[in-house]
Amino acid sequence: MKHALEFHKDIRQKPAEPGDEWAEFEATGTARAFCSCGFDTGTVATADAVRLGREHHHALKTPAPRE
Ligand SMILES: [Zn+2]
Repeated sequence: MKHALEFHKDIRQKPAEPGDEWAEFEATGTARAFCSCGFDTGTVATADAVRLGREHHHALKTPAPRE
């Protein structure tokens, strides 16, 4: 089984203010970690997604994904 863990932080676009020349994004506080093996945390608090993703990879002795 090949493992390719991905980690996605959820972001949302900040409300634009008059004069803004580009969109700004901010973290929503939730994230999701999922792996090609079927492991999937679903959308959970960012800290939980990071912890669960690391635990998955720790068990596999492979490098943890970057946050
Ligand atoms: Zn996996």
